[in-house]
Amino acid sequence: MIRLKKSKGERRRTAAQIEKTKAAVLGATGTEAKKETIWKSLRKRKKETLTQKFGAFAWKSLHGGYKVGTYWKHIDEDRLKCQPCNADTESMEHIMHECRVSGQETVWKIAKEAWALTGIQWPEVTFDLILGIGTVEIKGRRGKMRDGRTRLFQIIITESAYLIWLLRCEWRISREQNTAKIHTVQEITARWRKAVTRRLRLDWALTSKLSFGKKALRAAEVKRTWTGLSDDRNFGTLRKDFTGEGVLVDNAIQRRPPGRNR
Ligand SMILES: [Zn+2]
Repeated sequence: MIRLKKSKGERRRTAAQIEKTKAAVLGATGTEAKKETIWKSLRKRKKETLTQKFGAFAWKSLHGGYKVGTYWKHIDEDRLKCQPCNADTESMEHIMHECRVSGQETVWKIAKEAWALTGIQWPEVTFDLILGIGTVEIKGRRGKMRDGRTRLFQIIITESAYLIWLLRCEWRISREQNTAKIHTVQEITARWRKAVTRRLRLDWALTSKLSFGKKALRAAEVKRTWTGLSDDRNFGTLRKDFTGEGVLVDNAIQRRPPGRNR
């Protein structure tokens, strides 16, 4: 009986989250996403834009499967809250968009700076939208889907959201919730760059027809994905990229000016 009741509750939670995600996608893009398309975008991961790790994260989140916030109500009041923020509930929304220990503020700042290089407006990104990101399309003036920019947006959002989740868990677990050990801006910046550069390299690797045949990504589309973020001369030659010569979004990230603390 208890198990039955629980699964019913879970189903209700999942249905509610899907509805919220659908509304977020509609609000951001003006296009309605079907429930099935949202689920499928996490499983099939079209054009290798969403990683398997992000897919699993969003899948579990849509099911309300993470033990955060209200899960701890009546079990452990300490875990229910986010103490450093003085927040009554450490919800996923809190972690992604409000928390001062999850690194979210820095992550989103860097993400917005990188996206600004495309000259396209940054839509309001909420946790609900993040879960439906696989169905979010970036459109041009005439309403035509822009494949490269869509891929880039999805890559930036998924890598950023997943990094925030990782940072939160690291701080809570490995760093034992020590407020003196909150990830620094430098640390977070380095992590973000590493994650996105990895995706850039992976993208180019995936264009290999030799290795992937029909499943290979089209080089032109990959170029359209990263153009503006990576200096043009770095495209086409993966080798150069591997040497790490000023590759990604160098101009997107404000370097700390030299100062006394260096
Ligand atoms: Zn917090």
